[in-house]
Amino acid sequence: MSTETMPLSSTPRTTLRRHQERGQTDRAALYGVLDAGLICHLGVVADGTPIVLPTAYGRNGDTLYLHGSSANGAFWAADAQRICVTVTHMDGLVAARSVFSHSVNYRSAVIFGTARIVKDEDERWQALRLITDHLIPGRWAVARQPTKKEMAATAVLSVPLTEASVKVRTGMPADQPEDYDVDVWAGVLPISVTFGSPEPDPKMREEIPVPAHIRDRVN
Ligand SMILES: Cc1cc2nc3c(=O)[nH]c(=O)nc-3n(C[C@H](O)[C@H](O)[C@H](O)COP(=O)(O)OP(=O)(O)OC[C@H]3O[C@@H](n4cnc5c(N)ncnc54)[C@H](O)[C@@H]3O)c2cc1C
Repeated sequence: MSTETMPLSSTPRTTLRRHQERGQTDRAALYGVLDAGLICHLGVVADGTPIVLPTAYGRNGDTLYLHGSSANGAFWAADAQRICVTVTHMDGLVAARSVFSHSVNYRSAVIFGTARIVKDEDERWQALRLITDHLIPGRWAVARQPTKKEMAATAVLSVPLTEASVKVRTGMPADQPEDYDVDVWAGVLPISVTFGSPEPDPKMREEIPVPAHIRDRVN
């Protein structure tokens, strides 16, 4: 069985302690959370201090790629070290009758792994293509390709998707039975990420039309 079809690992680290019923063991659920996300948060201990950085990412099968400046200290600190990456979607604010039962509807993934600075130039190139196309599918093919200098200025980190957990909350508030008689509005305020109308760069020649891959991102 290829790892891409295997259920998610359940290790002491990835075992949910609270609301275990919200856990998803299907690997497709992990891919779903990652593929629908725009940014991740990379947690790493750098010079003895934990730091959590938001970064873009891309996925190739069971490998997550992150990129940053070659001068980014956290990236180099992460090389060959155990790190944690999270991706979070907020799907709704859950307004309960009691303050205690307020919650959030979400889909989130927590990934543990040993990160690796990618050295192979072909893998680095493919990783940058994946990251670019993850944000705007189809963008890599039309934008100017990186120069050697730009490649040298970019660090690429790979993280294996072998140890990960996915947690999903959906639905209405879970109030205490006695609170359902209280006359307080309760329900869910849905949240969704939407793209607005494309704003052309005034420095661009006016006759360049909005390309299909940008229009597709909006729809
Ligand atoms: C947008 C958002 C807001 C939240 N707000 C709160 C809040 O205000 N207070 C609060 O207590 N909790 C909140 N949570 C839930 C929180 O992320 C944890 O799930 C929870 O605090 C503790 O879970 P636990 O005791 O089972 O896990 P822990 O014992 O803390 O962790 C055990 C393992 O469970 C897995 N895990 C835990 N949480 C998640 C997760 N969210 N996604 C994927 N894997 C996970 C990890 O692998 C972790 O190593 C929020 C979650 C999201 C996404």
